[in-house]
Amino acid sequence: MRAVILAGGKGSRLAARSNGLPKPLVTVNGKALLEYQFELLARHRVEEATVLCGYRAEDIRRFCGDGSRWGLRVECVEETAPLGTAGAVIAALDELPEEFLVLYADTMVNVDLGRMFAAHRASGAEGTLFLHPNDHPWDSDLVESDENGRVLGIHGYPHAEGALLPNQVNAALYVLKASALRGMKVPEKPLDFAKHVFPELLRRGVHLHGYRSAEYIKDAGTPERLDHVAEDLRRGVVARGSLAVKRPAIFLDRDGTINEDISYLTRPEQLKMIPGAAEAIRLLRGAGYRIVVVTNQPVIARGDCTTADLLRIHDSMEMELSREGAFLDGIYHCPHHPDKGFEGERAELKFRCECRKPGDGMVRQAVRELNIELDGSWLIGDRTGDVQTAHNCGIHSVLLRTGIGGRDQRYTAKPEYMFDDLAAAARFIVQQNDERLAAEQNAGAAER
Ligand SMILES: [Zn+2]
Repeated sequence: MRAVILAGGKGSRLAARSNGLPKPLVTVNGKALLEYQFELLARHRVEEATVLCGYRAEDIRRFCGDGSRWGLRVECVEETAPLGTAGAVIAALDELPEEFLVLYADTMVNVDLGRMFAAHRASGAEGTLFLHPNDHPWDSDLVESDENGRVLGIHGYPHAEGALLPNQVNAALYVLKASALRGMKVPEKPLDFAKHVFPELLRRGVHLHGYRSAEYIKDAGTPERLDHVAEDLRRGVVARGSLAVKRPAIFLDRDGTINEDISYLTRPEQLKMIPGAAEAIRLLRGAGYRIVVVTNQPVIARGDCTTADLLRIHDSMEMELSREGAFLDGIYHCPHHPDKGFEGERAELKFRCECRKPGDGMVRQAVRELNIELDGSWLIGDRTGDVQTAHNCGIHSVLLRTGIGGRDQRYTAKPEYMFDDLAAAARFIVQQNDERLAAEQNAGAAER
């Protein structure tokens, strides 16, 4: 795989920090933004990079050299006129291989590129867009996709009043096939991928895939954002932000844990969040855990709700969470139910599966897909089945007094802890985690 790094911007928004340097060479914690990207590529064995430059191209060329400093082969290509992000790539197509990765030089990225490439290949798409949740989806361009990840549309803001869209923001990281772009003319005016090229490709019926991930990717193009990224680097948030790094997780049940259990939740407008749940998720994620929802949704097998309906409910839940800066790394649902013979049911989903809790199927899938370390992981829920699932997976268990509050009494497994709600559980886990880290640091200091 070859990477194409868009480094042509003048960086006028960063002028106060750049000392006249072009934006890709602005340093954060002592290192140029472009260097972080070269290191990312080298870590993922992406050994060739084409840097598309414009403003102060000579400085960038001198900085890159031949790339061997990073174990890469780097070439710089200078654009003759500013053509915008997509325009620059289209103009350079003849020098690019059939498939390539596109990165923007003013972003800080720590994404497991190998996983993204694998998802791109598995989808068979002409292009894959990295999509991530952010904390201001209402004023972001949001990408709508179907249950297989195929991109259906790109919704620029302002969004239509009352529109329910997923918190999937185009994060300016793509895998593209040159053939998909070949039909597009080299533009005379600047062209942007999200505003011009992807909508045009969708109109032509080109298959674009949305790769959804909450890994670390942030625009560093203004002084405030640069400071934010610097702080994230210092606190280790960037380093642990990639799925290439194994992390413990907090597995969360949905109904009765995050949102009120109304027993037949089949439409997004019925969703009502439990107070403090979003703040709890924000705290836990800030402490370095991956946050994964695992939920039994037999409403699908019963025919009360389609998978598409369920995804709309989850879109709504993630929008509510994002208002408080809370994000999920994944949502896994079991659509099955073991008992056959009801009117309106979907017979093909009526069987004894391994994913329905207390089965460990959803947790095992998340462990594979999100590189989770079970040691130090927790499962929090309001039913005895959640506690039993935790036991079956060998992870810590918390039973909450919200929702059913364990009154279902279906399974006999005893919870390690009980709390009034998710907020109380989160405070406890975060405090325990802080104490453990402090003890480790002290032990380390004593050894030194
Ligand atoms: Zn299942």
